[in-house]
Amino acid sequence: MDQEALKSRLPSDIAARVRSLKQSGTTLTAILDASGLDAAGRTDLERDATNALNGTAGVSEVRVALMADKPAAPAGPVIVAVGSGKGGVGKSTLTANLAVALARSGRKVGLVDADVYGPSQPMLLDTEGQRPLAEGDKLVPIMSRFGVPMLSMGHLVEAGKALAWRGPMASGAFGQLVDAVWGDIEVLLLDLPPGTGDVQITMLQKHKPAGAVIVSTPQDLALIDAQRAAELFAKGNVPIIGLVENMAGYICPHCGEESDPFGRGGVEAAAAQAGIPFLGRIPLSLSVREASDAGEPPAAGEGEGAAAFVAVADQVGQWLDRRSGSPAG
Ligand code: ADP
Repeated sequence: MDQEALKSRLPSDIAARVRSLKQSGTTLTAILDASGLDAAGRTDLERDATNALNGTAGVSEVRVALMADKPAAPAGPVIVAVGSGKGGVGKSTLTANLAVALARSGRKVGLVDADVYGPSQPMLLDTEGQRPLAEGDKLVPIMSRFGVPMLSMGHLVEAGKALAWRGPMASGAFGQLVDAVWGDIEVLLLDLPPGTGDVQITMLQKHKPAGAVIVSTPQDLALIDAQRAAELFAKGNVPIIGLVENMAGYICPHCGEESDPFGRGGVEAAAAQAGIPFLGRIPLSLSVREASDAGEPPAAGEGEGAAAFVAVADQVGQWLDRRSGSPAG
């Protein structure tokens, strides 16, 4: 009997799943596509197909094989960009600490420092002076001692020379950092150069992030720049995960009291006005700056300095979970 005649013995929903149906001697072998079915569905499919084919003239044995779902093509990491409208607001500090906090919560996180103007991640994550190796024509990320593999413009050029890299050279080097051997990394945090110019636009076009975090300080001027960053992402169709307020309240290193040299709540209000989620505030604290300069990200420690970063990382983690459709937690 030919395949079409054999197929006609099957209910139409099963016939649609036939990938091959062959009779050899008195044995009939059916290969069915079981994609989308859970374990119970697969059992039902196997049983129903066997029952429908049993009794076919000249057949003494029916074998049904189920094809598993096609393995999904390796998707590569989810890219999350961290941007700011201007420099000096703590974008790199936040990116480094977010990466460390996400890694500590069990996620496989990598970090790309695309800040051509001042690549500071090698200092922040204590990999200064190291050079990435290559595997074929790809770079191999450098493993920081905080469990976060990373690549920075600063690993490719000598300190102070990256500034000359604007334009096509910068975007070529950037491609190399993102297209590196990231292995099973799930999330790649991208420390963008500050600002909203051509360099950022080219980078976003080349490797479109799945989402973006914007950092701002509470001053009005910084907020206007943050709004420009939001427009940049909106134009590039990059969803904004949320806004982070950095250098929010000043924690006095002597008495521990908090004051607000730059005002308070400005970023949260601006986020609400723009309909963007607010992810949290990081206080201005001397210990954050000192630890950062020493290559000891506060998020790697246990102190109070870690808590604010961990809270923001939790929000980003929840966004990642919602995106991948898996339950939070
Ligand atoms: P950006 O990447 O936006 O240019 P950086 O992350 O390099 O900014 O931060 C600029 C400076 O501010 C650094 O010296 C950093 O240590 C310091 N800094 C950033 N965030 C804080 C904070 N919350 N408290 C104290 N100093 C901070």
